[in-house]
Amino acid sequence: MEKLLNELSSQSNPSYEVKCDIENDCFIPKHLKRKSDLGLPSVAENDLLRHFTNLSRMNYALSTTFYPLGSCTMKYNPLINERIAKHEAFNSIHPYQPAETMQGVLEIMHCLERDLCEISGMDYFSLQPAAGAHGEFAGLLIIAAHFKSLKQKRTKIIVPDSAHGTNPASAAFAGFEIVPLKSEPDGSLSAQKVKEILTPETAAIMLTVPNTLGVFEKEIAEIAKVAHENGTLLYYDGANLNALMGFARPGDLGFDVMHINLHKTFSTPHGGGGPGSGPVGVKSFLEQFLPVPRVEKKNDKYVLDYKKTKSIGCVKSFFGNFPVILRAYAYVKALGGKGLKNASAQAVLNANYMLAKFKDKITVPAGSRCMHEFVLSPKAALGNGVRTLDAAKRLLDYGYYAPTVYFPLIVEEAIMIEPTETESKETLDKFIETLNKIILEESADEPQRVKDSPLNTPVARLNEVEAARNPILKWK
Ligand SMILES: *Cc1c(COP(=O)(O)O)cnc(C)c1O
Repeated sequence: MEKLLNELSSQSNPSYEVKCDIENDCFIPKHLKRKSDLGLPSVAENDLLRHFTNLSRMNYALSTTFYPLGSCTMKYNPLINERIAKHEAFNSIHPYQPAETMQGVLEIMHCLERDLCEISGMDYFSLQPAAGAHGEFAGLLIIAAHFKSLKQKRTKIIVPDSAHGTNPASAAFAGFEIVPLKSEPDGSLSAQKVKEILTPETAAIMLTVPNTLGVFEKEIAEIAKVAHENGTLLYYDGANLNALMGFARPGDLGFDVMHINLHKTFSTPHGGGGPGSGPVGVKSFLEQFLPVPRVEKKNDKYVLDYKKTKSIGCVKSFFGNFPVILRAYAYVKALGGKGLKNASAQAVLNANYMLAKFKDKITVPAGSRCMHEFVLSPKAALGNGVRTLDAAKRLLDYGYYAPTVYFPLIVEEAIMIEPTETESKETLDKFIETLNKIILEESADEPQRVKDSPLNTPVARLNEVEAARNPILKWK
């Protein structure tokens, strides 16, 4: 600390020298010390407790409400996971301690990697990336390293127009040029169209299966064939693995690189954007490029291997987001192979049940069957200039977290619903009834009320344009 402070102060004031003395509180240089009082209010313990409890009750959470946020897989997060993630045996580990003193932690990472391979059909995984988007970025760097090692100049990535925004963003970040691929009217992709836009410069095609409209790519085998014949790799965005696990494996479908959003498919509470973990998986011919460190088993001992000369390097400090890894491991072990397969089956059944209840009243652009999620286009059903955004805001008044809206971009006035496997028929029925009421009745009978909503929440509707243009980032 003394060294660091001297270093810092020598830059701003070369004559300043710090003498460390914790007892006498001169640990912090004088000029960095607070000059005025912190100004914390003095309140009774009860009042403080009530303040924070009431604040927490303003939150939407899966423990209080249904959370049908499409593309995000807001499933039930078993509380046992939290207890495990909080356990002292894992929390007291320091990433710099020697590998032989944390064999259990390394074993868990090694086992989860093997489980993810079994579930996905990939040969190797790295648990380092901190989110799905980060896994995409790491995967694309691996693809770039692969073609560099082959001395092939491949600069383009094909991304369908139904893709999540992170796909083109990651590809651009990794230095590629994006070639858009247009979806068919039913939301699927045509192998013929893929073939037409492939060139010797196409490095990879990034696909989400089932895609963001909840549609399984019927032509995936053919797409994989034409891509591979062209020397192009196939990237699998694993955000929707919740629809497939136990039934089909991306590795068997022809994918070469993928990520898994552990916080989605394998349960970690992740509202508000975190925390996450996006392990990146590859077929064996790409193993050498995976991020370091790799957890390996040598002579019955687990070691961290940093010495991989072809690796793309570290993409996150130390082991990645270990508490999320731990929750995923607990979830996989608790459910087992049959349980995971059953979760997918139930997620698909729940989504189809809901879709069947909506499809006669509200336009469904991608057909009347879906995988684990579906997209409605209520444009024609909404009256009096009421928009999807208004209907979504109105749902807040009824105590629901609003589903994803205006995504995927190819559907007009889109509303995307993912019920997940962990909701009861009663919950689904109530939500269906509420959304139908807002779209079909309220928009016709009391349009202004819907446009002004939410009316019952602690914060009323924000002026989003004003908030974006003129953000007030101070509370006082
Ligand atoms: C959630 C999601 C991502 C991004 O994943 P993060 O973990 O949020 O970074 C990418 N693609 C799709 C289809 C997604 O739903």
